[in-house]
Amino acid sequence: MTTTVKLLINGEFVESRSEQWRAVVNPATQEVLARVPFATGEEIDAAVNSASQAFQSWRKTPIGARARIFLKYQQLIRENMKELAAILTAEQGKTLADAEGDVFRGLEVVEHAAGIGNLQLGELANNVAGGVDTYTLLQPLGVCAGITPFNFPAMIPLWMFPMAIATGNTFVLKPSEQDPMVTMRLCELALQAGVPPGVLNVVHGGEDAVNAICDHPAIKAVSFVGSTRVGTHVYNRASQAGKRVQCMMGAKNHAIVLPDAHKEQTLNNLAGAAFGAAGQRCMALSVVILVGEAQGWLAELVAKAETLKVGGGVESGTDVGPLISCAALDRVSSLIERGKREGARLVLDGRNPSVAGYERGNFVGPTIFDGVTPQMSIYREEIFGPVLCVVHAATLDEAIALINANPNGNGTAIFTRSGAAARHFQEEIDVGQVGINVPIPVPVPMFSFTGSRASKLGDLGPYGKQVVQFYTQTKTVTQRWFDESDVGGAVNTTITLK
Ligand code: NAD
Repeated sequence: MTTTVKLLINGEFVESRSEQWRAVVNPATQEVLARVPFATGEEIDAAVNSASQAFQSWRKTPIGARARIFLKYQQLIRENMKELAAILTAEQGKTLADAEGDVFRGLEVVEHAAGIGNLQLGELANNVAGGVDTYTLLQPLGVCAGITPFNFPAMIPLWMFPMAIATGNTFVLKPSEQDPMVTMRLCELALQAGVPPGVLNVVHGGEDAVNAICDHPAIKAVSFVGSTRVGTHVYNRASQAGKRVQCMMGAKNHAIVLPDAHKEQTLNNLAGAAFGAAGQRCMALSVVILVGEAQGWLAELVAKAETLKVGGGVESGTDVGPLISCAALDRVSSLIERGKREGARLVLDGRNPSVAGYERGNFVGPTIFDGVTPQMSIYREEIFGPVLCVVHAATLDEAIALINANPNGNGTAIFTRSGAAARHFQEEIDVGQVGINVPIPVPVPMFSFTGSRASKLGDLGPYGKQVVQFYTQTKTVTQRWFDESDVGGAVNTTITLK
């Protein structure tokens, strides 16, 4: 019998009573790995209630006790890295090396959460008036919730619940229904590390579960990562319900290549960032703008892409694994067809690759279109597959203008040896995360993941300093103490404070 993915409610991994389930499928083989429930309304209520109850004591747990759980947790994640990566590869498809990277980038946030003592400090101003001090407390909000996408099933849940819990909140997580198994293993390890019952809860499902989270009156904040379509809906619905919301959403990330760039490094970086993880990264480079004489590099870029090996994620030497689902394969294939119809030149067609031993997998190999224009569907839509659009520009400013005119602003990169050009790019570009000779500039956790324009809603990012603000309410306290010698104070305290 196929195993079932459990809910996590009040410290117990429990079987759902739902009548609606879906299969978790290995995208390289179509093997059914498990069945995942769409939690019922009562189960979602039970998870939120358990988080509400647990908040009463967790919010007062000393900083050191909270921090030590995350010290232990990071150790457990390290010890179980190979197992976590294997689960992730089986259900998501990315290569084992990439899967370890997925876990590792989440692990870095856990390490950061262990330093919560320094991150959640308030401020104090001494003698704001005679004998009066003002200070701030960063207090937890209550029950917070997270909704995560399929493409980083370890890293993105770890962006969310460790920092929410470390700051004194309790949490309800709704992982992607496409690949929830590694997320559940990470939750088991979190409990093993000492997260108390009710502090972390997990419900599964899709649209209904997400809407229930957006509407639930006991949930104070919602963190969402996923597509722009769903994220915009979550932002509007949860904001209207009075919640604090952050939504990190879709992308169309451009790289500019100037002719003075280091050619070999640039081509390697482009190939890795466009086709690695089968292009299913929100920070994947999906458009490259070749500027000036760099326009002559196209043939070498195609040759580089052709060297990448398409295969099962568990096979050593694989560069490009399968897409997450048959539906994703159909979508990417039809967008490639549309690109051809709309007049782009298909210079490398990765459709229907032959992958020995994985004949039923959802594979598309590296695919490159040249002569792409902003009007084409392949330029306007996030393809979320290993498809690179090549655009040509005469100057750096023309390339910058093109990027700034795109609705999305998640990530971008420039490849050049010119400091002046790079600095000009850094100043003029209107994108949240900027790489200079770095193709996927995802910041480490002492900074915050950013993103701008259509790629993000809400002011504060999902980790780093910003998330401490996101998960806390600032309270300012103004205090004065009297001793026996303080006699005859004015009745009007406003005057006294002047
Ligand atoms: P998705 O939007 O389909 O799903 C995200 C979450 O929303 C899932 O938990 C899913 O169950 C839920 N959901 C799906 N349909 C829904 C609906 N109609 N109503 C309410 N909830 C719904 O995204 P995905 O396909 O899992 O992930 C890929 C997308 O996520 C891409 O667009 C990618 O760019 C984006 N992403 C962004 C970032 C970032 O930091 N900006 C990071 C990773 C992924």
